[in-house]
Amino acid sequence: MNIKCLNDHGGMNIMFSSKNRDEVFAQLKSESLDVLVIGGGITGAGIALDAVTRGMRVGLIDMQDFAAGTSSRSTKLIHGGLRYLKQLDFKVVSEVGKEREIVYENGPHVTSPEWMMLPFYKAGTFGPLMTNVGLLMYDFLAGVKKDERRVMLSREETMKKAPLIKKDGLKGAGYYVEYKTDDARLTIEVLKKAVEHGAYAINYAKCTHLLYDDANTISGVKVTDQITGITHCIEAKKIINATGPWVDQLREMDRSKHGKSLYLTKGVHLVFSQKDFPLSQAIYFDAHDGRMVFAIPRGEQTYVGTTDTTYTGDIKHPTTSEEDVLYLLKAVNSMFPSLSLTKQHVQSSYAGIRPLIAEEGKDPSEISRKDEIFISTSGLISITGGKLTGYRKMAENVVDVVAKQFKREDGILYSSSQTKYLSIAGGEVGGSKNFESFQRGMINKGLAYGLSEKDTTSLVKRYGTNIEKIFVLYDESRNEAVEENIDLLVLAELKYGIQHECVYKPIDFFIRRTGALFFNIDWVYKHKHDVIRYMKKYLRWTEKQMKQYIDELDTCIKEATLA
Ligand code: FAD
Repeated sequence: MNIKCLNDHGGMNIMFSSKNRDEVFAQLKSESLDVLVIGGGITGAGIALDAVTRGMRVGLIDMQDFAAGTSSRSTKLIHGGLRYLKQLDFKVVSEVGKEREIVYENGPHVTSPEWMMLPFYKAGTFGPLMTNVGLLMYDFLAGVKKDERRVMLSREETMKKAPLIKKDGLKGAGYYVEYKTDDARLTIEVLKKAVEHGAYAINYAKCTHLLYDDANTISGVKVTDQITGITHCIEAKKIINATGPWVDQLREMDRSKHGKSLYLTKGVHLVFSQKDFPLSQAIYFDAHDGRMVFAIPRGEQTYVGTTDTTYTGDIKHPTTSEEDVLYLLKAVNSMFPSLSLTKQHVQSSYAGIRPLIAEEGKDPSEISRKDEIFISTSGLISITGGKLTGYRKMAENVVDVVAKQFKREDGILYSSSQTKYLSIAGGEVGGSKNFESFQRGMINKGLAYGLSEKDTTSLVKRYGTNIEKIFVLYDESRNEAVEENIDLLVLAELKYGIQHECVYKPIDFFIRRTGALFFNIDWVYKHKHDVIRYMKKYLRWTEKQMKQYIDELDTCIKEATLA
């Protein structure tokens, strides 16, 4: 059987199906890999895509689900780094500003422009002049498109766009474009593209040991399948440590954690129903302590974040504390005084860990978000820091290092990065200019299949061009949905997730593939039992597995809802 034949254009992607975990492990062991990436967050996914599209043979493992670390817990903005401007870091503003355009063009289904309002007040951090000059520089440095350049709003215009913001001392606002994304879906789409190009990627595969040759050069990893408990040895010429907040743990395993190390900070977001926090305009505002906080509308919800506090707890399991909730409530109530939001209004919340590089004497929010590559004497390549926004460029830089090593050591020449103009999975609509007409076409198709306009619109944004596969699954599962007593659309998405996006546990589906546990908790309550029942049968879980996965989902629900 030749299971490496992957299909770029619509065939079933068998190597990214949870039904084929054993085959993926077999390939990872038998292929002689050029590069093995440890970590399937946005950093690892980007590296896998960059390397495989240069012609390298690539594998990727993650000990949890893909994007289960920081890459599903961010503010979900592809942003040009206004905060770097405040720190006078012009090079970074310019670089990330340009990158956000590329991220948008390559996946316009999952990333979209979002006009952001920056209100200014008498005696606030920024006055109108500073805001205007700052945003003007931002437009220039980030190469912002003409129709997306900043506009200054009067007090009246500001109140019209955001009627609930504090009026006392309000002088006006800067109005500029950022981009909103779904971080976990962005990660999955990048990874799916890497797999389409021939990479092998598997979740729930934990690196427990690093392997070395006689010269003490790193040559592979020992990996334990977290589902079966089976251990495998995977060899590769180059091992890349893209484990985000876990980077130092891997460096410790490699006995190379000298010099710089990580400084972890926690960031929390709270999610409210639009009924309690009606907001149609995203706002970036000064919190009561001078830090900047976002309030962003997202479908029927509004989310607010973030905090930035030193973190020393369990990296796998950051949770929202009472203090975090009080801080964000205070920030939001001081900006939107008529709301009087309380803890009871919080629908859900999530916490993430920033893998920052320690800088002595600096407060968490002052530490640079720049990325850095460390190469140990054994050859382990570690990458950390950085942002979701800059993932593609970070990946390019890491793979440039690897390509140089291959040239020097083996005389093999690989091309330069191919990802600047490469659509991610689902993004093949011919650029952002075509997205609206693509969406209209799909809505008509969805209506013909019997789907509502609202559902189809969400599906287009979630799956992009892969929505056609959801339509097919929807159509062919009509009888099965009745027999299995499960909502037809939920079934179609679940089957797609299992067969094409490596969904293995309910939390993969409810958190990373659909985002529902953070942004549509009622949908989770409504469908969780049907989803679990179906998954047990389809994936042949044991009773013990089912119990474990139900517990995991319930814990996540409890934590998110602050129960
Ligand atoms: P992760 O996503 O954490 O991935 C690391 C992966 O490695 C994990 O999935 C983990 O399971 C795996 N792993 C660890 N150890 C092992 C092992 N032994 N074996 C196998 N796998 C292993 N950036 C932006 O651009 N825009 C934003 O709006 C934004 N907002 C943010 C808000 C918050 C609160 C935070 C915390 C960050 C934010 N960021 C933002 C930054 C951005 O989210 C991160 O830079 C990015 O997600 C880091 O991705 P990563 O792949 O490096 O790490």
